[in-house]
Amino acid sequence: MVEVNNVSKSYQRGSQIIPVLDDISLIIAEGEFIALMGPSGSGKSTLLNLIAGIDTPDQGRLLVNDIDITTLSERSLAQWRAENVGFIFQFYNLMPVLTAFENVELPLLLTDLSRKERREHVELVLAIVGLQDRMDHYPSQLSGGQQQRVAIARAVVTDPTIIVADEPTGDLDRVAAREVLNLLQRLNRELHKTVIMVTHDQLAAERAHVIRHLDKGVLNNQPPPVPS
Ligand code: ATP
Ligand code: MG
Repeated sequence: MVEVNNVSKSYQRGSQIIPVLDDISLIIAEGEFIALMGPSGSGKSTLLNLIAGIDTPDQGRLLVNDIDITTLSERSLAQWRAENVGFIFQFYNLMPVLTAFENVELPLLLTDLSRKERREHVELVLAIVGLQDRMDHYPSQLSGGQQQRVAIARAVVTDPTIIVADEPTGDLDRVAAREVLNLLQRLNRELHKTVIMVTHDQLAAERAHVIRHLDKGVLNNQPPPVPS
């Protein structure tokens, strides 16, 4: 379970303080698929990064499976993140000089798995995303949708409990987006991953169990009214 308790966050730009999240509280159950929507600049990525332990809040607590990640040292937080969170980004963030296989293997190099075990894990997740026959391809030799599927394989290869995805379909056409969403849904349903997805796309959001809207630093249950 992820518990966001009274979290606030601002950024400093020069002498200016920019408040982004204002006293946000949110509970995400284990195995839930949640979509976060809201206008550009409303703080969606900021909230996602806090939940994933990429950034730390100014105030409030973040409990993930009963661990208060706001009390961890930078080093312990990095370790926690490596073991518990898989990331998927809008622009895939694959290493261009590495093959699909090597990109997916990357997070495993930090573990004590043997070379043979790493190969087994990588082949398994590449098969899950349907790219077992593209293992030796470089990102530039793959379509956008295929690159995002490699990124999904990389996100799950360490068997994290939480998958965070920041606009995972934002750069894809309808068909590729649907494949990526199907995969996220499978990770949620079949592998019981908690999925937290930021999206601008209502159709993508409808794949989730819950849709929450962030606006002006505050979370709402209801979508904002459509301007007439
Ligand atoms: P988008 O839909 O465009 O991705 P978002 O909802 O993800 O937007 P955030 O990226 O969380 O929004 O940004 C929220 C606000 O915080 C914006 O005004 C942004 O300019 C500001 N911001 C984000 N990151 C930083 C940073 N590292 N330093 C300063 N300001 C930042
Ligand atoms: Mg964002």
